[in-house]
Amino acid sequence: MAEQLGLFDARWLQPATARDRGSSGRGSSSAWPDAAAPPLRVRESRRARRLTLRVLPPHTLELVVPRGARAADVAAFVHQHRRWIERARREIAAHYALAQERLPTRIALRSIDQSWSVRYESQPQARPRVRMLGDVLEVRTRDAERRGAEGALRSWLCDQASYHLAPWVLREAALVGRRPSRVQVRLQRTRWGSCSNSGTLSLNAALMFLTPAVVRYLLIHELCHLISLNHSRRFWAAVERYEPHYEALDRQLTDAWADIPLWAHPDARRR
Ligand SMILES: [Zn+2]
Repeated sequence: MAEQLGLFDARWLQPATARDRGSSGRGSSSAWPDAAAPPLRVRESRRARRLTLRVLPPHTLELVVPRGARAADVAAFVHQHRRWIERARREIAAHYALAQERLPTRIALRSIDQSWSVRYESQPQARPRVRMLGDVLEVRTRDAERRGAEGALRSWLCDQASYHLAPWVLREAALVGRRPSRVQVRLQRTRWGSCSNSGTLSLNAALMFLTPAVVRYLLIHELCHLISLNHSRRFWAAVERYEPHYEALDRQLTDAWADIPLWAHPDARRR
């Protein structure tokens, strides 16, 4: 019997630790190697009457062993169900990879010429958050599946955008000679920016992914709406005064939707 276990990774048959027997059934959220298929976790149960295999969402494959079960019986059971186990491992790994591929390993904000490599860490019970440590962005999530990572990154992006775009608007406003009554920054799906008739400028936080020249053009464009709310000849004449290359930049702005990474889309959702 023993050699049949050779079909599987040896660690499959290591007993679960005390911590892994928590009531949640999900065990510790310590990092599970991204590329590998999940190991089979073995849990000894006082109550269980028979050997049971099950998938614990999101990514744990568990073998429940009644207390006192003979090692030979466990090995035979695993061997008998090896196809099921292999299939489950593959499915779990594929599902996990799909969830991960959206998450960035590198983020570049061209508008401010900064980039970071992204590091993920999980900590049970912790609130998801993003920290900047030099050129590293540390994203903390509750579990190794990194749930909440995209949301935390989007909040971070909005913070960065508010921090950098608000003073930038004021600098360009001094040039145009009109001041918005208010500036708001958030992720928007269909617009890079807008200007209300009460003088509020709304800016899309995703502008941070664009080049400084394109961002500046958008700011000039919206500020010129404080001179003329529509796209009249008078409006474009004002834009041209502050940005002679406005036509090319406007085209670049239209094309730039493709530059927004998936995680930064405002309606992005994990699965
Ligand atoms: Zn406009």
